[in-house]
Amino acid sequence: MSKKERTAIEPTRMENYAEWYQQVIKAADLAETSEVRGCMVIKPWGYAIWENIQRVLDGMFRETGHRNAYFPIFIPKSYFEKEAEHVEGFAKECAVVTHSRLENDGQGGLKLAGELTEPYIVRPTSETIIGVSFAKWVNSYRDLPLLINQWANIVRWEMRTRLFLRTTEFLWQEGHTVHESREEAMEETLKMLDVYARFAEEYLAIPVIKGEKTEGEKFPGAVNTYCIESMMQDRKALQSGTSHFLGQNFAQASGIRFQNRDGEFQHAWTTSWGVSTRLIGALIMAHSDDNGLVLPPKIAPSHIAIIPIYRDAEEHKLVMAKALEIEAAFRNKNYEDVRVYTELDDRDLTSSERNWHWIKKGIPLRIEIGPRDVASGAVMIARRDLEPRAKQSVPLTGVVSYCLQALGEIQANFLAKARQFRAENTVRIDRITDFYAYFTPQNAEQPEIHGGFALAHWCGDIACEEKIKDDLKVTVRCIPFDAEEELGACICCGKESHKRVIFAKSY
Ligand SMILES: [Zn+2]
Repeated sequence: MSKKERTAIEPTRMENYAEWYQQVIKAADLAETSEVRGCMVIKPWGYAIWENIQRVLDGMFRETGHRNAYFPIFIPKSYFEKEAEHVEGFAKECAVVTHSRLENDGQGGLKLAGELTEPYIVRPTSETIIGVSFAKWVNSYRDLPLLINQWANIVRWEMRTRLFLRTTEFLWQEGHTVHESREEAMEETLKMLDVYARFAEEYLAIPVIKGEKTEGEKFPGAVNTYCIESMMQDRKALQSGTSHFLGQNFAQASGIRFQNRDGEFQHAWTTSWGVSTRLIGALIMAHSDDNGLVLPPKIAPSHIAIIPIYRDAEEHKLVMAKALEIEAAFRNKNYEDVRVYTELDDRDLTSSERNWHWIKKGIPLRIEIGPRDVASGAVMIARRDLEPRAKQSVPLTGVVSYCLQALGEIQANFLAKARQFRAENTVRIDRITDFYAYFTPQNAEQPEIHGGFALAHWCGDIACEEKIKDDLKVTVRCIPFDAEEELGACICCGKESHKRVIFAKSY
């Protein structure tokens, strides 16, 4: 039997996907668990990914007419109580501020003092607090539409947390908009879902399915919730963004009224939409491999590692001169709308150690330059979408153009690969026994990677949805927009159905 090939990340995806995920984050130095329970420390390489996500999305929000603003982190309990469904949805995961001071307890410690007459909730989402401002800002149809976005941190008291996927505190953006009519608000809701879908595919190289959430899965207080769902490499779904049509629910709760074109006062129509640092979790799980993080160039914090190879001071001097020239050649170079960044790494480590350092961090390209390369006027270039040891000799004069083209190819390859993976793991299922078999692992103790996206008929009854969830931990991820009208029988109860929905296990 041949020895198992060693990988930079252990365990591998097949061996233990959940543990592999943690190890990829650690090896790439993206984030770590904080001593504050449920919270994460996002380290520079991870935060730079978030900053890139922010920068690109912020540009897209501006292009669609939105402006940024900032609202309080504290939400008085009474605001929260105004929308009943909303309260119910978030009540179990709220951090509540009840005191305003600390006092000496006389024993060398501190005690809480200054109890608040009304507790504050640390924002788990901002519909109610933003609604209070909107009620003041909106008076006439001339004030509409009101298109606001906020970049902020959010707190939801989670019991079981995982870096980037589910943490008590996380970062996100939340769009909040106000409109004159139902049609306009609905148009906005879907427009922003399109923005998210475009961002996921064009930048994160993650293909997504756009669809509507079921009644049981929608945002508390929303009329309709739309989402983009993506498939991770363990074939589970990850909800990567949501956009909510709130109807007049929150306008009524917050008193957002305006004088319409006929001079009458009426409640406005609102929307909200958001994506979070969860997208980094999606990015890791969609592309990374057993050698570590894999980053699409368009979202990578840096693109090219330049690795000088030398044995002594004289060689160091020789190769560094060329390495610096290469670095300078990339200054102010762009690949599409992305500024190309390089990392010149001449640390006192072997070239193999430095190579693996950057492979594990997911940098798209690595340029090696040694004394022989200098002599021959060429460098060796390796790509993160190829085997770690696959390298190509490129003449020094062609390095920049080779790299810019390679970045484009790598970005396209990742999207194509993710699309193919999803296609291979999406099935149409019509019989309940097949459905249960599909979602049942062979090894119940330590489930192997199994299942995928099952396109199956569903009658629309919440009881069927609940039963499947209870039995298999499988949920309706969404009712896809592109689902074809097709007569069939509900996978659970056999009643008539007109469309297939996507069932999957999820994060
Ligand atoms: Zn049914």
